[in-house]
Amino acid sequence: AIPLVVQIATERAAKGGVLVTDRLALETMRTVGAVLFDKTGTLTKGEPAVTEATSAPEFDLDGVIAVAAAVERDSEHPLARAIVAYAEARGIDIPAAESFESAPGLGVSAIIAGVPVFVGGPSMLAGRGSEPLVASEQWSSTGATVLHVIVGDVVAGAIALADEIRPESREAVDALHALGVQVVMITGDAEPVARSVAAELGIDRVFAGVRPADKSAKVQELQAEGLTVAMVGDGVNDAPALAQADVGIAIGAGTDVAIASAGVVLASSDPRSVLSVIELSRATYRKMT
Ligand code: ADP
Ligand code: MG
Repeated sequence: AIPLVVQIATERAAKGGVLVTDRLALETMRTVGAVLFDKTGTLTKGEPAVTEATSAPEFDLDGVIAVAAAVERDSEHPLARAIVAYAEARGIDIPAAESFESAPGLGVSAIIAGVPVFVGGPSMLAGRGSEPLVASEQWSSTGATVLHVIVGDVVAGAIALADEIRPESREAVDALHALGVQVVMITGDAEPVARSVAAELGIDRVFAGVRPADKSAKVQELQAEGLTVAMVGDGVNDAPALAQADVGIAIGAGTDVAIASAGVVLASSDPRSVLSVIELSRATYRKMT
């Protein structure tokens, strides 16, 4: 039988936008030692926009944007949507692409007019044995996500995208610190971008360049240090890590997969709502003991 106080507390919480699907997760939240936040879409808005684009000397910039958008048109990723929107806003005709492929955490590719085109981050670039364009190097130090466009086996251009930090994120980090909880950030994005966001938010530790398949191993790494870990995320990518964490928290417009893997679901996208879960846990279980 469910103790009445727990039932009442969870019902009341549901009205406030906190949906508890796993009561043990709620109880555990009381003793949380580290909160691991996914960066994109959780601490940031998850709505990137193109801020810079450049082409290698032998390529036409609009041509590079056109092929990049052609590849990205078949991707659901927020970065992809931003590139397509950018091409459209510039009135660029987007050519047809075939044989689209996505490499999670790396990038995407397709064949355009018989030529393979790749769009992706630093790991994809390195994996293809290519060097970043010089102009792009300063972009990542300002916190932008940098993608390169490879046509055939030549680096044809680079695109920078910026995602705004949610205004509530800083307050969430400060409040967790005040409770003595460590705040850690995890992202598939590159190290410089991650560092810049972490510095702005006062985050203690960063796991950057983490492939989707490796996110849950990072949770285990924290658990191996003896920490009770809550993981907060929204994406399909985050589902295994949410399941591995002592408390999995899916937020906002999270995907169904993320929601199914979480013990706690927050209706709001506000990272401060994680504090409500800790408060709810402490209040509920204090009454019982
Ligand atoms: P996050 O942990 O921030 O949600 P993802 O795992 O979704 O990150 O993506 C990690 C990295 O993979 C991106 O920063 C980017 O470099 C690359 N990437 C993912 N999807 C795409 C895409 N559609 N086009 C280009 N690059 C991509
Ligand atoms: Mg994400």
